[in-house]
Formats: sequence, structure tokens, C-alpha cells
Amino acid sequence: MNDCLFCKIVAGEIPSNKLYEDDLCYAFYDIDPQAPTHFLVVPKAHIPSVAGVDESNQATVGHIFTVIAKLAKELGLDSFRVVSNIGEQAGQSVFHLHFHVLSGRDMTWPPG
Ligand code: 5GP
Ligand code: ZN
Repeated sequence: MNDCLFCKIVAGEIPSNKLYEDDLCYAFYDIDPQAPTHFLVVPKAHIPSVAGVDESNQATVGHIFTVIAKLAKELGLDSFRVVSNIGEQAGQSVFHLHFHVLSGRDMTWPPG
């Protein structure tokens, strides 16, 4: 998508602190970390949010969760939280599907 920040990061048009990349997804550290470890995992293909997940892209989303598990293991994360905000009221500010992975501090429930 032409005017999408995360499409530009995936394409290398905007620099990022890359953690992992394969054919389907791209992982990079959040520019404004909300925990000692905070990275994002996004599909390379543009999907606006979890609300845009369907039969055509479900394999990519499933794959992203295998990548999250692998990266968490490699980084030695014993406890972590995976978050995806959908829509402005839920806090979504970039409308390209992304999963936040947060770790390294106590977290509260319910989330704010
Ligand atoms: P959302 O608010 O949509 O759930 O999450 C978007 C996330 O993208 C935020 O945590 C924000 O800090 C992060 N972000 C926004 N712009 C950039 C950027 O240019 N580079 C990186 N690495 N993260 C960004
Ligand atoms: Zn995009």
C-alpha cells in the first residue's frame, strides 16, 4: 500500500531496527518501547488489522505466531504479552496489522 508506514518499513524505505525477516513477515523493535523488550511483528503483505484476517491470509497470521514463539525463545522471554489493537478506540495508530510483543516488566490486567 502506497502510503502505509509499515509497508515502507518492510520495503526498507524507512529504517528500522530489524529483529527477523522471512518471506511472509518482518519483526522490528518499536520506536517508542512500552516495556524493556517491545517489538512488532507484521505481515509483509498489507492487512489493515486483525479485522482484515480471512481465509486468504490466515496462513500468514498463523505463521506470524510461530515466529513470535521462536523469537521469544531466542530472546529468553519467559513471560510476555502479545497485543494487537484494532481500530482507533482500541489504540490502533498504524493501520497495517501488527502484533506487539512486550516483556520484561510486571503487567496489569485489565489493560488500560
Ligand atoms: P498501534 O498504536 O497501532 O497499536 O501500534 C503502532 C506502534 O508503532 C506504536 O507502538 C509505535 O510506537 C510504533 N511506531 C510508530 N512509528 C514507528 C516507526 O517509524 N518505527 C518503529 N520502529 N515503530 C513505530
Ligand atoms: Zn501496509
